[in-house]
Amino acid sequence: MRLLVIEDAEDLAHAVRRHFADQGHAVDLAGTAAAARDYLAVTVYDAVLLDLGLPDDSGSHVLQDLRQQTPAPPVLIISARAGLEDKLQHFALGADDYLSKPFDLRELEARLQALLRRHGGLAASVIRLGNFTFDGAAKRASVGPVGLELGRREFRLLEYFVASRNRIVSKDQILERLFSHDEEVGLNAVELYVSRLRRKLEASDFTIRTIRGLGYVAELTPPASP
Ligand code: CA
Repeated sequence: MRLLVIEDAEDLAHAVRRHFADQGHAVDLAGTAAAARDYLAVTVYDAVLLDLGLPDDSGSHVLQDLRQQTPAPPVLIISARAGLEDKLQHFALGADDYLSKPFDLRELEARLQALLRRHGGLAASVIRLGNFTFDGAAKRASVGPVGLELGRREFRLLEYFVASRNRIVSKDQILERLFSHDEEVGLNAVELYVSRLRRKLEASDFTIRTIRGLGYVAELTPPASP
């Protein structure tokens, strides 16, 4: 998933980024409302973590701007303001969840996952495609009885292919999903990850096909015709 963390407390922002990047997610950090708006203008995020006390503007205003976007990403407020009135006010403005500081990163992660499930992100259920099985909740994929050994980023790529199966995905879309803005990588990095993943899926009924000039389609391979 691609996450935007709008938070001016650098220690917290970096801890959050480390936590989710370690799991292979792409995380962008914005320390000001202006930086957040710049990112949001050019990037589609799966979720946004939003602090309310930002140096240049109120997080409430950023939330209001975000609600004008289509599609609007789900927003989880992280704030030291723990009062009921603050929470109610921000739910009324369209926040999807509200976590008061200080919080445990595990709670943040659990809430974020619940929020993504509600927003029709990746289902936690197990998906079977021929001999291929994908278990997003357990972070496992297997071909027949054999579990695949996947790096974190490879797993995220596979997850994306499973979620967007039977649809063409472009290399740009994959780049957006897998890498944050401060990682200077090009489309050849995408090709590299796809070819690695393909090798690991060699015996799988779920395969990644190249669509020349457009990108890839991941699909259940039809049975070979005689
Ligand atoms: Ca703050």
